[in-house]
Amino acid sequence: MLVAAVVATLVVRRGRGEPTGAPAIDIMPPRAAIPATAGLAGRIRSLFERGATEETWRGLEDALIRADVGAAAAAAIVGRVRAVYRPPADPAEVVTAEIAGTFDGDPSWEAPKGTPGIVMVVGVNGTGKTTTIGKLAHRLRTEGRTVTLAASDTFRAAAGEQLDIWADRAGAHLVAAERGADPGSVAFDAVQSARARGSDVLIVDTAGRLHTREPLMEELRKVKRVLEKAAGRVDEVLLVLDATTGQNGIAQARAFTEAVRVTGVVLAKMDGTARGGIVLAVREELGVPVKLMGTGERPDDLAPFDPRAFARRLVA
Ligand code: GDP
Repeated sequence: MLVAAVVATLVVRRGRGEPTGAPAIDIMPPRAAIPATAGLAGRIRSLFERGATEETWRGLEDALIRADVGAAAAAAIVGRVRAVYRPPADPAEVVTAEIAGTFDGDPSWEAPKGTPGIVMVVGVNGTGKTTTIGKLAHRLRTEGRTVTLAASDTFRAAAGEQLDIWADRAGAHLVAAERGADPGSVAFDAVQSARARGSDVLIVDTAGRLHTREPLMEELRKVKRVLEKAAGRVDEVLLVLDATTGQNGIAQARAFTEAVRVTGVVLAKMDGTARGGIVLAVREELGVPVKLMGTGERPDDLAPFDPRAFARRLVA
């Protein structure tokens, strides 16, 4: 737990002796003090008060960047708003629609088929990975599917214990090993166990410590290889991102995507925050769709990503 706390609050940078090449991931504490999007709608409306001038468009782009949307996504959204905005339309409404439109045509969450369907879940410690897995198991069980969970984060004792509680709560089967066991072996055993029990879905928890990037990414690649070999394929690699994370989220997404080809983002902690703008940057820059969103700590607090609800929250 101490490790998780330290990892979540430290700025981890590549040490002098470590290999160069891959950039380190900066893990910064969430900037919770001033919500960057507080009153984004109001700010947009006041920008357009004296018509839509070049200054208005620059101001809009700046306001979006300050909401963690990222420069590329902000420019794209401004471009689309410019093309469709006609007074006396409400500019905040137009911006909301164009933010939601960023996700048009993206695949939405679907339980993996296959026997079992394999879902690997990755993300930095503290983002809400274990909670998301518990909620996902609950969701699948509610839909009538049988679920096995694999505790492949063998580094944190607490992760296994937490997963055990969630497995119990959801009525899922858990495969775990002692602390320090090989994460790949746990994944392999979990595939065999899920098969033997006839589970519909296997969800694999993974480590998210970031003392240094490479050993972790190598471990994740190995877990994925083991799953592919044992099960024939991995259906989903979900990356959990904390909605209160700023631009640092894009560095996390890039690192995990490069290592294990993320197929979808879960935006956790959407409740109690007007943030989450970071997923627009992830969508624009990495092309990864957002599939699910976490809205609390209870089993039912996980839902398919709703672009319109997300956009309304971000702008409101
Ligand atoms: P992990 O280290 O990535 O496995 O993160 P955890 O699952 O342990 O979550 C870290 C903290 O965030 C815990 O206190 C969770 O209860 C909390 N958490 C996770 N998801 C959500 C969410 O969607 N909303 C809220 N409010 N809290 C969440």
